[in-house]
Amino acid sequence: MVTARRTTRAERMAAPLARQVVKDLAAEHGACLRPVQLRRTEIDTGHVEQVLIPCGHTLASVCPSCAERARILRAAQCREGWHLDQEPVIDPDPATEEQRDLITDRAEAQEARDLLASAGLDVGELNQRIGDMDEEITDSGLRGNVLPARPRRHRSTRRRQDAAPLPRRPVNARTVGKTYATPDGKTFRPSLFVTLTCPSYGRVGEDGAPADPDTYDYTRAARDALHFAALFDRFIQNLRRFTGYDLQYFAAIEPQRRLAPHIHLAIRGTISRQELREVIAATYHQIWWPATQAVTYDGGHLPVWDQHTSTYLDPDTGEVLPDWDQALDAIGDWDDPRHVARFGARFDAQGVLAGSRDASRCIGYLTKYLTKHLGDCHQAATDSQADHAARLADALRYEPCSPTCANWLRYGIQPRNARPGLRPGACKGKAHRREYLGYAGRRVLVSRKWSGKTLADHRADRRTWLTCTLGLPATDPARYTWEPVKPGDPDHMPNGQRLLHVVADRIQWQTALDLARRRAAETDLPATGSAA
Ligand SMILES: [Zn+2]
Ligand SMILES: [Zn+2]
Repeated sequence: MVTARRTTRAERMAAPLARQVVKDLAAEHGACLRPVQLRRTEIDTGHVEQVLIPCGHTLASVCPSCAERARILRAAQCREGWHLDQEPVIDPDPATEEQRDLITDRAEAQEARDLLASAGLDVGELNQRIGDMDEEITDSGLRGNVLPARPRRHRSTRRRQDAAPLPRRPVNARTVGKTYATPDGKTFRPSLFVTLTCPSYGRVGEDGAPADPDTYDYTRAARDALHFAALFDRFIQNLRRFTGYDLQYFAAIEPQRRLAPHIHLAIRGTISRQELREVIAATYHQIWWPATQAVTYDGGHLPVWDQHTSTYLDPDTGEVLPDWDQALDAIGDWDDPRHVARFGARFDAQGVLAGSRDASRCIGYLTKYLTKHLGDCHQAATDSQADHAARLADALRYEPCSPTCANWLRYGIQPRNARPGLRPGACKGKAHRREYLGYAGRRVLVSRKWSGKTLADHRADRRTWLTCTLGLPATDPARYTWEPVKPGDPDHMPNGQRLLHVVADRIQWQTALDLARRRAAETDLPATGSAA
C-alpha cells in the first residue's frame, strides 16, 4: 500500500503534470497530438471499431508529429524526382462510365441553354442546373472544369524596354536532364540546386534589420512578396523556353532574415550560371492593377454599402464607385503597370549529383522551414528586428492583396465580388497577416512531372512499405463504411483518452517495426555456419 507523503506546495508544483507527460510522450514517439476519431463499420458483419487517425496538420506549432511526417514526405518527394533518368509516366485514368454520362448531360444542358439565350429567353433555371452539374462533375473526381471560369481579359502586354531579350526555343517534351560521359566511359547526370532572392530594398545589417529604416523601400518589399509566386511562374516559363525542354522543379519558399521571401529550387538537369543569370535578368512580372497613389477614403470617411443595388457608394454624394472591371478598363496603353516584380541579381547555383551528401544537404534546406509559418522562421530578438517586422506589416496593411481585397475601397474602387462589411485595412486575406509576411501562396511548388506522383501517391508508397515490412494483411477499403464520431455520441472519446490510445498504439507499432527491420537485416546477411 502506498501512503501519501505530506508535501509542500512548491514540491507539488515541481511535479510534472500527468497530461503534459502524455503529450510529451506522444510527441516523442511521433504520435499525433490531435487524433481524429472515426467509427469504422465492416459492411458484411456489422462489426464496429473505433479508429484514430492523425490530424495531418503541417504546422509544428499545431501538431509536431504530423508536421514532421509531412516534412519527411516532402523530402521523399523531392528526392524521388530530382535525378530521374527516365521520363515519369503520367497517364490519367480513363473516365468512368458515370463521368462520361455526366459530361454528356452537361453538353445537352449547354446546348439547350445557348438555344434559349439566342432566342432571348430566360436562362436562369438552366444556369442553375448547369452550376449543379459542374459541381457533380468535380465530385465525380474529374480534374478541372469543362469551361474556363470567366473569359480572359485582353490587356496590353507590351514588353518593357529594359527587359533583356531572350532567345526562345520550342519546348520539347523531354523532362530529364542531359547525361555527360567522362573519357573513361563513366556517365553522370548532374542536377541543380538554385536559390533566387528578391532585389535590395535598402542596406540591411547581419540581423536582417535595415541600416536606415526610413529609406528602406517597404512598399516595394510588400508588393514583391505579394506577387512572388507569379514572378516565379514567369521565371520557369522563361527558363523552359530558353533551355528548350520541359524543365522540372521542386521549390520551397522561405523568408530571409530581412523577411523578404526567397526560393530554393531543386532542378532536374543542369543549366550554366551564365544562362541562369540571363534568364533571371530577363524575367519580370507586370501587375496591371489600378493605380493607388491617391487615398480617397480613410478613417471614418468610408464608402457605404447600398443593399438595393449591391454596390458601394460615395458617403457624401451617393455616387456609385467604379467596379473592378471598370477600374481595369480605365488603365490605358500609355499607363505604367502598377508594379513590376523582378528577382534580385544575386542568386546561388550549385551542381548536385544523385545520392551524394550534397543532395541530402540540399533536400534538408528545401524542407527545413516547412513546418513553420514564414513569419515564425526568424523570431525578432532585437528592437530593430521587431521594428522592421512591424514596418513591413504596416506596409502590407493597405496594400491590395488581390482583386477582391477590401483595400481597393480606400482608393475609391469596388473590389471584385464586392459584398457588405468590407473595410480597408481589415481585409481577411492571409497575405496581410503577420505570420505570412505578404506571401500567402503555397510553400512548396512542385512541377507536374517531377516524380510523376502526387503527394497522396507518395503517402500510399509509404503505407505499402510499412504494411509489407510489418507483414500486415492489406485491408480492402471497400469493405468498410467510415463516419466521424461527434462529441455527443456515446462512443466518443475525449482528447485525453484518444491521446493515451495513440501513445500505446505507437509504441507497440514501433516495437513491431524495429523487430521487422532487425529480421530483415538478418536475412540480408550472407549465410554463415550458424544460420538455419
Ligand atoms: Zn496530428
Ligand atoms: Zn487583402
